[in-house]
Amino acid sequence: MAWTPAENRHEKMRYNRLGNSGLKLPAISLGLWHNFGDDTPHQRKVEMCRTAFDLGITHFDLANNYGPPPGSAETAFGRILKDEFSGLRDQMVISSKAGYLMWPGPYGEWGSRKYLIASCDQSLKRMGLDYVDIFYSHRFDPDTPLEETCGALDHIVRSGRALYVGISSYNSQRTREAAAILKSLGTPCIIHQPSYSMLNRWVEDDGLIDTLEELGIGSIVFSPLAQGMLTTKYLNGVPEESRAAASKSLNPDFLNDKNVENIRQLNRIAEGRGQTLAQMAIAWVLRRGRITSALIGASRAAQIVDCVKALDNPDFTDAELAEIDSFAREADINLWAASAER
Ligand code: NAP
Repeated sequence: MAWTPAENRHEKMRYNRLGNSGLKLPAISLGLWHNFGDDTPHQRKVEMCRTAFDLGITHFDLANNYGPPPGSAETAFGRILKDEFSGLRDQMVISSKAGYLMWPGPYGEWGSRKYLIASCDQSLKRMGLDYVDIFYSHRFDPDTPLEETCGALDHIVRSGRALYVGISSYNSQRTREAAAILKSLGTPCIIHQPSYSMLNRWVEDDGLIDTLEELGIGSIVFSPLAQGMLTTKYLNGVPEESRAAASKSLNPDFLNDKNVENIRQLNRIAEGRGQTLAQMAIAWVLRRGRITSALIGASRAAQIVDCVKALDNPDFTDAELAEIDSFAREADINLWAASAER
């Protein structure tokens, strides 16, 4: 059935400028890491993309390895673009990344020019695109000169494969180094993608948010719901249809008594604010306008509807923030910590 996007979609969303760039991102963006692989029915993926776009979510985030199997999320998204979003490309911001293992051998991961350019070409082919809006170095590579990684990003822009470049999970020091090299090449780093949530606050300890503000780089924070932990679904065990039951990325050990008790208390605060815990978790990462976009995932269209309502109640009192601080404790769930330690 032909689909026409909601006419009033942009009225429902807030759009924030990415650092000093001219590009704006929706306050909430949709990532396709999980639930867009071959293990999810295609129609469910279509419904999630349509629902997101209808709510003003213009930004869709991918990477070479999203699936399973790796690459299948980009292939599925390419099919959705062709079938559902025809004529809408200029209204969308699509990103991809390379850095993690994608193919065997020494040229299938990390940060060499050889890998980044080949991977970008493969991503474009899978999605049926001429260019992506943003291409990221997915993680810092300690064995490749940063000049080479940044030079490859610069080339990817100059050759028309991407409009902008970004970095993901780099710490403050590496961010400063990469930003300086990219600036000298004439292709500024406009975006950083770190993990950040009430249960994973490394960006605060690292000073990354201050660094990004100082450098004029925008931020899109991933896993703001801590992969679903910051919802009510794990308060009484692990439901069958959940990421913790289905995927290794949400280790059931993360759902220990201490973490679940903190989540229970955070849910109590959310209820007092008249919002779901997922909504409060998103509003919290976006608080005080320091983060450009919250990058959520979803397994159902209804979850996206729920999450976007976070924007109906975005403000916190100082007392609320202080109370949240006593339960928004490091939960030891940062799977990407090693990238920031290099
Ligand atoms: P997340 O938003 O923290 O978690 C998404 C999960 O939370 C969903 O799959 C769903 O779990 C649950 N959920 C979402 N909304 C819900 C709601 N309203 N009510 C109840 N449950 C809800 O984010 P994420 O999926 O971990 O990551 C988001 C995106 O960030 C990825 O798709 C990817 O684009 C990006 N990312 C980037 C990196 C990187 O290295 N740069 C790493 C990880 C992720 P169920 O499946 O259990 O229903």
